[in-house]
Amino acid sequence: MNPIFSALPTTIFETMSRLAREHQAVNLGQGFPDDPGPEDVRRKAAEAVIDGWNQYPPMMGLPELRQATATHFRHWQGLELDPEAEVMITSGATEAIAGALMAVVSPGDEVVLFEPMYDAYLPLVRRAGGVPKFVTLTPPHFGLSEEALAQAFSPKTKAVLFNNPLNPTATNFSAADLDLLASFCVRHDAVAICDDVWEHVVFDGHRHQPLMSRPGMRERTVKISSAGKIFSLTGWKVGMVMAAPELMRVLAKAHQYITFTTPPNLQAAVAYGLGKEDAYFEGMRADFQRSRDRFAGGLSELGFSVLPSAGTYFLNVDIGPLGEGDDVAFCQRLVAEHGVAAIPVSAFYAEGAVRNVVRFCFAKHDATLDRALERLAALRVKG
Ligand code: GLN
Repeated sequence: MNPIFSALPTTIFETMSRLAREHQAVNLGQGFPDDPGPEDVRRKAAEAVIDGWNQYPPMMGLPELRQATATHFRHWQGLELDPEAEVMITSGATEAIAGALMAVVSPGDEVVLFEPMYDAYLPLVRRAGGVPKFVTLTPPHFGLSEEALAQAFSPKTKAVLFNNPLNPTATNFSAADLDLLASFCVRHDAVAICDDVWEHVVFDGHRHQPLMSRPGMRERTVKISSAGKIFSLTGWKVGMVMAAPELMRVLAKAHQYITFTTPPNLQAAVAYGLGKEDAYFEGMRADFQRSRDRFAGGLSELGFSVLPSAGTYFLNVDIGPLGEGDDVAFCQRLVAEHGVAAIPVSAFYAEGAVRNVVRFCFAKHDATLDRALERLAALRVKG
């Protein structure tokens, strides 16, 4: 068997969701909303299943979705994309990331990764033959520095895999960070594979800035977006990939032999959804922000040390003040004894550098969050 995958454990998200079911816990681990998602978008998908085309759609995606993607990102992020040559639809962002690594990386090429990182990145980089080079981001800002980038980049750097907003830290990179990273990519002639799936789930009036629009990046960026995150429909697995024609030509070759296409009915519904009025997107953000504030407020009242959350479905708690130094053991006890599932953040590090942070998903109904808070009260920090 291939040693990279045979040595891997089951993903922490699957493991914690299974434990949550076993213990009938409130599941604030794996990131998915309680809300069923926008009804009009779901209806479009249902109509497309009944009345629409259910055979193979075009390999690059439905023309209407490619057009809607270009229109959407011109409107929200000022990007000018040719839907014919620069937009492709995949079965979720994870397929797009896997395909991009296969298309860009040759064995021995170095790939810069930023820790903490989403758990799929490292095995996918290794399977593509890439040699990982880590930049470790540190709290509270998790920002970039010239020194850290200078250590990670080398003449062998082929690509960087960059997630902004960043899961699990719930941070947005600053404009200065983006400019710094762009300058390194340009200087080292590296491709930036940008996991932008959280771009719409940002709070406090923030607007996402894509790395693709920084100087020198338009021709060397693969921008990856996710309908699952944009419409709170995480099981849909519809990804949008944007890149200059020369890159796209090779990305398409990888996609055509991984999944080839993506369910046409879901694509039709996403094409409709991307054109929804601004109020929908603002309202979605406002709802999640309210849930964030409710949960963060409740945790703070209980004495927990809550780290800031500027985006994503997540907020993090420092368990150090609870006298806890092992996030994995803590999460196992939390689910089994207190009935709340969370994610140990050490799962996002190659070397488990951080052991005192636990991630909670707040994209839930008030009643779910309140139930979790009631259970967490047993751990109340006395002080
Ligand atoms: N993106 C989700 C999270 O961070 C997990 C998706 C999955 O379960 N693989 O919670």
